[in-house]
Amino acid sequence: MASLLQENCTLDMLAKAEQGKYGILAQSCYDAQSAIALVRAAERARSPAILQLFPVTLAYGKGPFLQFCLDVAHSASVPITVHLDHATDPEHLELAIGLAEQGIAFDSIMVDASHAETDEENIEIARPYVERALKAGVAVEVELGRLEGGEAGLRMISDAKLTDPAKAETFMKGTGALILAPSIGNLHGSYINGPKFRQDILKALSAKFAGKIPLCLHGTDELSDELFKECIANGISKLNVNSWARDPYVKAFSTALANGTPFPDAVEEATEVFAKECLRLMDVFGSTGKADA
Ligand SMILES: [Zn+2]
Repeated sequence: MASLLQENCTLDMLAKAEQGKYGILAQSCYDAQSAIALVRAAERARSPAILQLFPVTLAYGKGPFLQFCLDVAHSASVPITVHLDHATDPEHLELAIGLAEQGIAFDSIMVDASHAETDEENIEIARPYVERALKAGVAVEVELGRLEGGEAGLRMISDAKLTDPAKAETFMKGTGALILAPSIGNLHGSYINGPKFRQDILKALSAKFAGKIPLCLHGTDELSDELFKECIANGISKLNVNSWARDPYVKAFSTALANGTPFPDAVEEATEVFAKECLRLMDVFGSTGKADA
């Protein structure tokens, strides 16, 4: 199965990042403007990046919008791939994998069965989707354990489970997936008491999977630059980012329109605000300049 994915750009990008000890910004994009802003930032920083969509955005724009995202990402002058985050519902998985089978293929998708009660049930739900995705050349990310919280467009989860590194190899073999999102105290949305991450879990996973399975950090709202860097040093190569760029972008756009700025100028202003936050994160993650490395 792995041979089908030798050319997979997401896996290639993450392997290089892990080796080079930097992180890849996987930025949630909700519309054409944010997709263009991410590409603009990546080209300006000479950085690789991942353009990430939520299932609700895929369901809204379907094949034509995914094709647009693939076109802007793949025609960039730096490596940019397109990923589907947190595909949980069968209708979303069917849509994404069905499109891939018709040739409109994400580079990677997350098959999220972390709502399952046991690892075995998680594997049982994820496995058939992982197999179909791999056949279509799409790399798959899975979550072991369960993250608490919720983001716009995602399920709300209130009973987190930390990842058990001792079970991780069996889980990855069982699902057949190639990217792992661990639960190390990270959560989606706001950290009420501040983030307290189990770096020991991350180090144990990195020791098992270095050079084989890239690790992805979810739940990055409110994280300090230092914590981002510590997670990258301990083995994270994919960093999912949502509100850091989205919130200032929405504010800039709505303020500009409220102030009577002409629509195309407001679009341009907001696009720049989104791009600038992406540029800042690329610097923090150490990926700036790595597209040419
Ligand atoms: Zn997530």
